[in-house]
Amino acid sequence: MSEFLPVRTTCPYCGVGCGVLVTPDGRGGATVAGDPEHPANFGRLCSKGSALGETLDLEQRLLSPVVNGQARGWDDALGLVADKFRSAIESHGPDSVAFYLSGQLLTEDYYVANKLMKGFIGSNNIDTNSRLCMSSSVTGHVRAFGSDTVPGCYEDLEQARLIVLVGSNTAWCHPVLYQRILAAKAENGCRIVVIDPRRTATCDGADLHLPLKPGSDVMLFNGLLVWLADHHKLAESYLADHVSGLGESLAAARADAPDLARVSAVCGLSETDLQQFYSWFCQTEQTVTVYSQGVNQSSSGSDKVNAILNCHLATGRIGRPGMGPFSVTGQPNAMGGREVGGLANMLACHLSLEAPDDRALAAEFWGGGPIAPEPGLKAVALFEAIERGEIKALWVMGTNPVVSLPDAERFRRALAACEFLVVSDCTARTDTAELAEVLLPARTWGEKEGTVTNSERRISRQRTFLPPPGQARPDWWILAQVAQSMGYAGFEYTHPVEIFREYARLSGYQNGGRRGFDIGALQEIATAAYDDLSPQQWPINQANPTGQARFFAEGGYYTRDGRANMLALRYRPPATAVDEVYPLVLNTGRVRDHWHTMTRTGKTARLSSHRIEPLLEMNPTDAAKAGFADGQFVRVESRQGETIARLMLDSGTPPGSLYLPMHWNRQFASGGLAGPLVNPVVDPHSGQPEFKHTPVRLKPVELPWRAFIGSRQPLHHSALFSNIDYWVATRADGCWRYELAAAVAPSDPAAWIGQQLPPTTDWIDYQDGRHAYRAAGLIDGQLAICLFSGGELDGLSREWLLSRFVEPALNARTRAGLLAGLPAEPGVDPGRIVCACFQVGINTLTQAITEQRLTTPEQIGQALKAGTNCGSCVPEITALLAPSGGAVPAAG
Ligand code: SF4
Repeated sequence: MSEFLPVRTTCPYCGVGCGVLVTPDGRGGATVAGDPEHPANFGRLCSKGSALGETLDLEQRLLSPVVNGQARGWDDALGLVADKFRSAIESHGPDSVAFYLSGQLLTEDYYVANKLMKGFIGSNNIDTNSRLCMSSSVTGHVRAFGSDTVPGCYEDLEQARLIVLVGSNTAWCHPVLYQRILAAKAENGCRIVVIDPRRTATCDGADLHLPLKPGSDVMLFNGLLVWLADHHKLAESYLADHVSGLGESLAAARADAPDLARVSAVCGLSETDLQQFYSWFCQTEQTVTVYSQGVNQSSSGSDKVNAILNCHLATGRIGRPGMGPFSVTGQPNAMGGREVGGLANMLACHLSLEAPDDRALAAEFWGGGPIAPEPGLKAVALFEAIERGEIKALWVMGTNPVVSLPDAERFRRALAACEFLVVSDCTARTDTAELAEVLLPARTWGEKEGTVTNSERRISRQRTFLPPPGQARPDWWILAQVAQSMGYAGFEYTHPVEIFREYARLSGYQNGGRRGFDIGALQEIATAAYDDLSPQQWPINQANPTGQARFFAEGGYYTRDGRANMLALRYRPPATAVDEVYPLVLNTGRVRDHWHTMTRTGKTARLSSHRIEPLLEMNPTDAAKAGFADGQFVRVESRQGETIARLMLDSGTPPGSLYLPMHWNRQFASGGLAGPLVNPVVDPHSGQPEFKHTPVRLKPVELPWRAFIGSRQPLHHSALFSNIDYWVATRADGCWRYELAAAVAPSDPAAWIGQQLPPTTDWIDYQDGRHAYRAAGLIDGQLAICLFSGGELDGLSREWLLSRFVEPALNARTRAGLLAGLPAEPGVDPGRIVCACFQVGINTLTQAITEQRLTTPEQIGQALKAGTNCGSCVPEITALLAPSGGAVPAAG
């Protein structure tokens, strides 16, 4: 590999699985562009993918093994991990140990972990954070198709005439897919229906938005099934030849949804809108139904999935161009993890854990011991077992469950009490890593190589383009070393291609068309061919040597009789209803520019500028009734926990609901943490938690003292902010930004901030009355820190202040404006960033709209470039063009 030639690899964020071209600069950095030849994105990237080059520094990297806080060699650390796991197994049995994995792992890593736990340790206690995002889809697929098979492909979105987006803010969470959908709509005029309680950015491209009541999806699709039957749209011959269960499922749907009035009442939708949706679905053969976390993250998630699948099976709209149900995955390799059996209730390569023959086949192939017949513990059950002390040794790989689990504070305490916790990660400081006895440094994106599978079953390569730092090692290597230290044979891998070949061999082993997942044609792949592997959709076998785009157009399901199953489903409301004590529904999810627990996106100023803090979105009418104002602090309380958050009034949030992003954690904020609030109730079939529906209440919080800090160096906030009620830390260009609020101000702000000040050569400050204090420290003429404590801070030009940190030396005019917090010259403050790709702020946009009389996003793109790269900000720009000027969150 030449350091300066572009390397083809795959984006490490969402399940769209975009191809990227990375050109290293030879100094540890790289430029990133979309790969025009990758079939997932054809050169497009979203804001997150475009900023990947800004996430490659080694800040916060874990560079050597650490045992009890001390750096140690690999031999010591691996020996300790092997000893602890072996002794737990000897004393308490194989089910006393567990692995908790991540959709960030590569398929090769996942395969080795699964083989070690299920094939050799003899337990199925291996689960993954994918349990939290799409296990309901897995369950739905297996129940209907007999296998976890996504029937369609991205091209279907371009060939469809009706696209139904259910529980998916596609514009923000799968942005490149959304751009493909919008391009198709511009080309062929297809209709888009968005089904989501919230009015999100995705609704901007919709012909119809159905803001259904949270959790009522089964009723909506049962109503659709009845409508399809009553309007003679059932595919009689497909049903006769390939599908079982129509009678029972239709009877259940009729009992649930006898007429539109009943559906309307339960779903909270007008009969007119229902009629419109049902009619369009009825009339449009080429319909794709895309669904995501809004469907999956529910105590009835599996039933919601099957209610959607029922409608596609009943109409035979599956596996043909432009039609089918389509579950889109959240993580880059959630699908790969499903294929290798990374869930506690699955085996590898679509072998069934429940089938004795399949267990025997896997055991014989691996050459370890027998596979345990009982499923392992699913994520929430696993952490409950840890809480009870039943799991003596846990290995967490590449994920941060202390942040992402429901009832997160309870499970943080459980992990803290676990007898032995090992975390392998690339990041030294995460909320989970802080609890570990052993930290193992893993390689990350750009340093490791292997394969990932995206939402359309396309296997792509991740390739190396950076030298691995310190002692970081691939996850497969770490696992294989521990396995060998535990005395197991079959883990003598020296290169990921050896793992991939074995995995491909297992997929084809005694398959004969019995299992859909078959990449047996790659079992002898040469190392050079593996290096060059182009993106391909499985199956890749003798019958389909270059892959296959679709499944099931001619039936051929992976059930015993080859027929798909329609399920008899009844609507169930969310597990825990709101009541007088907890009257509001908390919904959680993503924001546009952050990813999971921010360990990567939190490093870039560009991605951190769109939302600088975890704003709690609330309907303005609800807020007015409760006497809350935009930007006010509130305490959010659920039966599980509480957090302080700042309100953002948003008319897209339905009355009675709140929305809080899932990303923020203790490394970035003291409040606005979603995980501790979330109800840990799970879907009874999939084990997926109900992240979209937790009853909560709000209480006002008075935090009159506010402060704003910019600092070139990160502050040691655990000490500095110990008495501060609310703080949030955000990466900015060349500095860190801190927003603080407290009930009581520090008694001596100069002494308080002085705890951590660098040895400044030049300190200027200003005390205004008893409470307001402003100060700036400069080193060699360069701004090192600024503090605005107490008093009126709303008028500060924060973006202007922060942008002073990149100036090599401040001129006299700037110095004069520093403590005022405002530029001396007018018109240099861009305001809050709206377009992350080109860093165009709200002030720049509104000024251009007014002065140049711009009326369309296209005109704004021509004038300022805003919205012309990834397009993620176009809905916000469109809102600014609206007569109201668009409601946008305030900063500070
Ligand atoms: Fe990455 Fe964005 Fe593509 Fe997702 S849509 S894979 S985050 S570039």
